[in-house]
Amino acid sequence: MVAHSGHHVRSWGLWSLPAPALTFFLLVDAAAVTYALTILASSPRVADLSTAATLCACAVVCIEGARRVERRRRRGGALHKDLQPVWMIAAAIVLPPTTALLCVILLRTWWRVRASRCIPHRWTFSTAVVVIAAVCAHSTYDAVAGVLGDAGWAQHQVVTVATMLAALAFLATDALLCAVAIRLLAPTSTLREMFGDSADLAVDAVTGGLGCLVAAASMVTPWAGVLGIPITLAGQRALLLAQLESEASTDGKTELSNFPHWRQEVEDLLDRARRREARFAILLADIDHFKRINDTHGHLAGDHVLREVAARMRAVIRTEDVAGRFGGEEFVIGMPGVDVADAVGAAHRLRTAISGSLLPIRPAEAGADGAEVVRLTISVGVAVYPSDGTTLDQLLDHADRALYAAKAAGRNRVSRGQGIEPDVVALAQPTDLDAPGQRRATVP
Ligand code: GH3
Ligand code: MG
Ligand code: MG
Repeated sequence: MVAHSGHHVRSWGLWSLPAPALTFFLLVDAAAVTYALTILASSPRVADLSTAATLCACAVVCIEGARRVERRRRRGGALHKDLQPVWMIAAAIVLPPTTALLCVILLRTWWRVRASRCIPHRWTFSTAVVVIAAVCAHSTYDAVAGVLGDAGWAQHQVVTVATMLAALAFLATDALLCAVAIRLLAPTSTLREMFGDSADLAVDAVTGGLGCLVAAASMVTPWAGVLGIPITLAGQRALLLAQLESEASTDGKTELSNFPHWRQEVEDLLDRARRREARFAILLADIDHFKRINDTHGHLAGDHVLREVAARMRAVIRTEDVAGRFGGEEFVIGMPGVDVADAVGAAHRLRTAISGSLLPIRPAEAGADGAEVVRLTISVGVAVYPSDGTTLDQLLDHADRALYAAKAAGRNRVSRGQGIEPDVVALAQPTDLDAPGQRRATVP
């Protein structure tokens, strides 16, 4: 039995963390356990139990009500915010430390049991962080209430300000400890990855505000916290909105913009080019003989190759360029402020980025080498505002006819109008990867 549990402990994922992260996790866990042991010596007061029971029951209703939404929300990045802390903030403010701690542990355990996937050491760390955040919130409330009370503030003002600052203390402690953990786990993390983007800050603001309202209501009547349930559930559904918006504008296979969204963005950029009398280029790229990939390796391999091509395109365009999937194996790129020479240069960069690399036909599997790869080429049609057209449809039509000319001239080429555009850079450097094909390109 002992040997078995010893083996079990040694197999914990915790031990595989980098040393600084491991140290930090253990320190935070130890601080929370030490605090819990010191305060659990005093037993909770019966008078607080109805408030505690109400807050826990409300939280459980919200955890259960949010399960579908939470499953649907993308789990990208290390940071994941939801509205769970609303009830813990309220508990930390209105209940004495012992009772608040019991609520926090009970709710985290409920969540642990009901969550489909959960990494044990992360759950322990997050629970420790919430315990410490709750301590900070409670101490802040007491300290602020004491100072303002001494200064002669009216009772309702004292409660309002102390509640708000306590919620702030909770959220700040939580954000800081999580940010440090993310940075120690991945030392190259940016501030945005550590603290979240504006949408994450909005979640924090909603959580803090609701936590204060539930705390204030619970101070008036122990069961008044139930008023927070519908608002929290509605808030949780609203969190889905950002994700649904992004899904509605993204092509699932390539993660580029889908055509309707690309069109909307490029119309706006083209409007701006018109107002400023600036140039604007459209590139239409089509993979050469893509049907052969499907025929030889199957459609799943074809899909994976599409994703790889899209990733390589994204890597060679500028941040201000807008890439989208036109449909099938065709891609469109809108390039603000780009004239004919730059557009042709960009098209050749795109072409050589694809033809110069081997594309895996399956996702890389850990430890598998000798993955199957294919080599592909693309043909690109170029159109530039205002010389090749003044509306987006005219430009797309021009680029489409140019693409047809590039195909007719033998593929793996760039065309604008009926002629083939030589790759000036490759011509100057004949050692370029696929220079033979390029040197055959002629200017009619
Ligand atoms: P060309 O050089 O003339 O462009 O030849 P091609 O084979 O690339 O062109 P064609 O238009 O004849 O065929 C395009 C192929 O792309 C046919 C279709 O099966 C495939 N395709 C289109 N969309 C997808 C997709 O989403 N996934 C996969 N796997 N294949 C796709
Ligand atoms: Mg094709
Ligand atoms: Mg095609």
